[in-house]
Amino acid sequence: MKAAVLGATGNVGQIFVQLLNGHPWFEVSVVAASERSTGRAYSEAARWRQSTPIPEDVADLNVVDIEPKAVKDVDMVFSALPSEIAGKTEEDFAKAGYVVVSNASAHRMDPDVPLLNPEINCDHVSLIDEQRKRRKWSGAIVTNPNCSTAALTLPLKPIYDEFGINRVMVSTMQAVSGAGYPGVASLDIVDNVVPFIPKEEEKLENETLKILGSPSELADFKISASCHRVPTLDGHMEAVFVELKREADPDSVIAAMENFVGEPQKLKLPTAPAKPVVVRREEDRPQTRLDRMEGGGMSVVVGRVRKDPAFGGVKFVALGHNTIRGAAGCGVLNAEYLKAKKYI
Ligand code: NAP
Repeated sequence: MKAAVLGATGNVGQIFVQLLNGHPWFEVSVVAASERSTGRAYSEAARWRQSTPIPEDVADLNVVDIEPKAVKDVDMVFSALPSEIAGKTEEDFAKAGYVVVSNASAHRMDPDVPLLNPEINCDHVSLIDEQRKRRKWSGAIVTNPNCSTAALTLPLKPIYDEFGINRVMVSTMQAVSGAGYPGVASLDIVDNVVPFIPKEEEKLENETLKILGSPSELADFKISASCHRVPTLDGHMEAVFVELKREADPDSVIAAMENFVGEPQKLKLPTAPAKPVVVRREEDRPQTRLDRMEGGGMSVVVGRVRKDPAFGGVKFVALGHNTIRGAAGCGVLNAEYLKAKKYI
């Protein structure tokens, strides 16, 4: 299938181009970005910052406008646009009949838009029918979570299902690539920690409850987040504290996480990692540099699962790759699921 990437020159857009290179089902045939880039070859417009070479087939494509009339002959659309631009643009594409798989936050919390971390809640695709009826369009908008939410919700899902959850507290240590390019100024982040990421805590709190809930109802626990930018390149680490509904020892929680698989694994989707949650037993893992590429960047690595003396539950550390599981990789997995279920 032919795919367009909107915002293809940006940080997440480049990871889309990288992950879709040689993909068995999807091929990038259109790249779109801002006026700064349109009319130029992708290789000139994008300052390619990935460790693999720029894919040859995409390097020579001409960058076009982010408008349906400029995006020709594609079967679906990936969006890696800034949120303020994504809102209307994604609606225009859905009106023009395209399924838009989006990374942006603009539509994530709309009640009729699926917010999918697919191992957890791919049944939320049922919202597409409601979306089409209500908005009178033949396309669809399907979103994936904010980067820190993608990493938190995977280990919470098996805990929520097996033991129930009353409360969650989470404190994040988030990599600089999460802020896009050029992102945080080097003078603000080298030798420093910045204890504020605009709108991040609200996203983490709200999106987690939508993903772990049913298509029509939010999950019924309380969650409080504190988010911090740290001087790592990729990989968001999170210290998580969970008050359980039913008592459980750390070994039972570990077993629940290790046994957890979802529909993407059952359907053997190309981007699905063998294990969505990988648990490490060493006392000093996960570590950002060593563990962020687990499962091709699609697995969340959990460690230090232990009893929480204050919360009466468990505490642990989770690490997720923010631009792969937390952005483009999750988008590609969503698209694979949508294709397998014939929505695309
Ligand atoms: P980025 O590096 O700043 O890239 C932004 C992209 O959007 C570029 O391709 C840019 O094109 C294009 N763009 C900007 N303004 C535009 C306009 N007015 N019209 C058309 N195109 C425009 O940002 P990013 O980090 O890739 O993030 C992209 C989206 O993914 C955001 O919504 C972000 O919140 C979300 N997200 C990011 C992460 C992460 O870890 N980075 C994780 C999850 C979600 P030009 O190059 O032509 O300017």
